[in-house]
Amino acid sequence: MPSFHVLIAGGGIGGLCLAQGLRKAGIRCTVYESAPDIGRSGYRLHMNAAGGNALRECLPDHLFELYVQTSRTAPRREVFTVLDHMGNELGSRPHIGPPNDPVRPHTAVNRRTLRQIMNVGLEDTVRFGQTVTGFEADDDHVRIRLADGTTAIGDVLVAADGINSVIRAQLLPEVPVVDTGMRGMYALAPLTDDLAAVLPDALYDGFVMATGPDGAMFTYGVYQPRRPVAEAAADLAPGASIDPVGPYIMANLGIVPGTPFGHEIPDLWQASAEDLHALMRSAVRGWHPGLADLVVRIDTTTIFPASMRRLEPAAPWPVGRVTLLGDAIHAMPPSFGAGANSALRDAAALARALAAAAHGEVPLLPVIAQYEAEMRAEVFPVLRASADPRAMDIDFLPDDLPTAR
Ligand SMILES: Cc1cc2nc3c(=O)[nH]c(=O)nc-3n(C[C@H](O)[C@H](O)[C@H](O)COP(=O)(O)OP(=O)(O)OC[C@H]3O[C@@H](n4cnc5c(N)ncnc54)[C@H](O)[C@@H]3O)c2cc1C
Repeated sequence: MPSFHVLIAGGGIGGLCLAQGLRKAGIRCTVYESAPDIGRSGYRLHMNAAGGNALRECLPDHLFELYVQTSRTAPRREVFTVLDHMGNELGSRPHIGPPNDPVRPHTAVNRRTLRQIMNVGLEDTVRFGQTVTGFEADDDHVRIRLADGTTAIGDVLVAADGINSVIRAQLLPEVPVVDTGMRGMYALAPLTDDLAAVLPDALYDGFVMATGPDGAMFTYGVYQPRRPVAEAAADLAPGASIDPVGPYIMANLGIVPGTPFGHEIPDLWQASAEDLHALMRSAVRGWHPGLADLVVRIDTTTIFPASMRRLEPAAPWPVGRVTLLGDAIHAMPPSFGAGANSALRDAAALARALAAAAHGEVPLLPVIAQYEAEMRAEVFPVLRASADPRAMDIDFLPDDLPTAR
């Protein structure tokens, strides 16, 4: 094994995938994750072939298989569908991303399950409860500072520490975090047979949005694993710490400033779960009975608020021993369900690049420069398009984005 050592700030979607990819290539790495454990950190993630192919490349075969088996069953139609508040279909459009797997398409995952799968085998690599506070780099090494006062040294530092990245703030302080003004609240309703019986069929499409006359907007995503999670985990990763998860529908109330519904946005972070649930119920008054019933059936303990923020695409920066992936460099609104997929894409590309450098096949800095140039070329158009106010229109899909058709 080469002595090359990669430091990764952040053990989220991209950081864990990178660690798996490096491990597969025989490269040492350490992940510093500020949270004490994997935690909840969101629910359902729409997957496309960019993310799915990256997981195939980085994960050992049994963990990739576990990801596939615990992914959502193929939806009724793998499209983004828009409904009116009475459940009538207004139109649909393809998802973005490369062509999907024709046999077992990448669909959607439960975020915590995916993170738990990606954590398997990394028990000695991921240091939970360790916050990175900054770095110093020279021609030969990079040193990180940790909140507990210690430091660590490596050959490369990867910022995988999300939208509030302290590494990006030090490396590229000019990149602004933009608050879109949109607020949301995410929640789950168990997908029971009696709820399923009253929902419009379109709710079983890939991803669904419904808008009311006052501008209240819900997005919905079904999660129904191909195989029960506990059964698949016991079979493919016995002894691994992977929680059971039952089928659910994720519902997100989006509050758009400037609409009648969004004219006065309460402080969602001060509100109780019951108040947030009441707001969600008020948004669907007079809606299709199934869509209203879904909101009534929400498990209030699952409700959490979210603000929609993004980064501006950074101008090219000088290459060095510190690089970035995922939300740390291209956090985007969830309009296209592409943020996590892009982080996974970056992780696979960077693992490939660093493995080539660590094994002495290519010099380090040019290979990092190439990784960064390709990342800007492939992902920044998605960031720009998802930040466009028209991103949720059915007819809006810029020509430079591939569709998964
Ligand atoms: C509500 C919502 C829904 C979404 N839905 C989708 C979807 O359906 N499909 C999709 O592709 N994308 C989706 N996204 C986007 C997706 O969640 C992100 O793009 C993805 O999580 C980015 O992965 P990441 O690894 O770059 O960052 P993260 O997953 O945010 O991970 C960053 C990690 O770094 C840790 N960290 C932060 N600071 C430090 C520090 N100083 N030191 C150490 N650790 C640190 C954090 O605790 C975190 O674990 C959604 C986003 C939101 C908000």
